[in-house]
Amino acid sequence: MPNLLTTGSLVAIATVALLGPPLAARAESGAETATRSCNEYSVVGLPDVATEPASFTVAVDGTRDVARMTYGYESRTSGPWQFTFDPAHADIGYVAVAEGSGCTAQVAVATTVPFGFSRTIFGPGSSARTTAVANRTDRPATATVTRPDGMVAGSYALEPRSSTAVPLPGTTVRETTHYTVTVTADSGLAMSTPVVVTKGWSTLAGGDLHDAAVFDNCTTIPWHYSPQGARGDADTIERDIVRAQRLISTRTGLSFQHVDDPAQARIQYSWDTLGVGGPSAIGGFGGSSEGPLRGFVTFNSDDTWPSDAYAGIGARHGAPADRGWMIVHETMHTMGLGHSTNQFAVMAPYNRGQHAFTAGDLAGLDTLYPKAACAA
Ligand SMILES: [Zn+2]
Repeated sequence: MPNLLTTGSLVAIATVALLGPPLAARAESGAETATRSCNEYSVVGLPDVATEPASFTVAVDGTRDVARMTYGYESRTSGPWQFTFDPAHADIGYVAVAEGSGCTAQVAVATTVPFGFSRTIFGPGSSARTTAVANRTDRPATATVTRPDGMVAGSYALEPRSSTAVPLPGTTVRETTHYTVTVTADSGLAMSTPVVVTKGWSTLAGGDLHDAAVFDNCTTIPWHYSPQGARGDADTIERDIVRAQRLISTRTGLSFQHVDDPAQARIQYSWDTLGVGGPSAIGGFGGSSEGPLRGFVTFNSDDTWPSDAYAGIGARHGAPADRGWMIVHETMHTMGLGHSTNQFAVMAPYNRGQHAFTAGDLAGLDTLYPKAACAA
């Protein structure tokens, strides 16, 4: 019997820190090469305490050519060297600078963010859902959870310099629900963040829907398939990739287009030896500050589910379903969707014969990539 486990894996260089320590406001630069020093760089315009997104500029003191500056996913090849600091991504700690001469520097982007939000929903399959809120100040603070209709669901005391689990109303959740968690301190400092509770689906990066979609909706995603290392009995899998993508594109604003050049692809399908008894395939996405996020699906050449014996996209007696559903599952990982706790979902971690989307699968696709948002 094939092992039916499929896993989502997330490889993102710019990850979201959950509850980081406070940072002192400072700026530094001037990494040196063996022969010459770089320009001097400093961050200008960022407040000492940031409670909401703020723009800042990198000032250049020197005459050497700046070829590129990169901050998180923002990259500039010419000035003004302006970027946006987001307290939710305070872990992106520096701007990387590359000078035309080959000199490189890192400019610290440091400010104090008084409160932190994990945005991750703990216990998504139960009624006891919580999210974590950090109070990094020396004073008590209060966290308030507000329902979509504006009603306050609860208020919770936050001790100084501590992280607290804040309950989210769970028993009434029938579908995706957007809450707002607001933290206020006696000093008047306040921060808010949306927290989304989903039902029947999840995001690969956690509960934060704001950044969960890997691709821009209403776009065409170039993809490439590399048969290198493929099982000898998997000749027709490329046809099933197309079928799987069609199932997704008919229900979302995304479409997919094969490209011959892997460098142009945003999703790469390939093979590797993941071990006998390992996952049948893995899928996820990754990125660097130099370019857009890219999805990957890796089929396990040690496993039989990817073989032509399972070709197609229909139902099958027993488990697993046709391998097209494995490709649907992994492709949804590349799009930013995570596993479902519903064992009948396509996004369940195991395929026990699932060959149709559940309401939760469709809610996830529709929330991240709504077809209705795209012009006909
Ligand atoms: Zn998976």
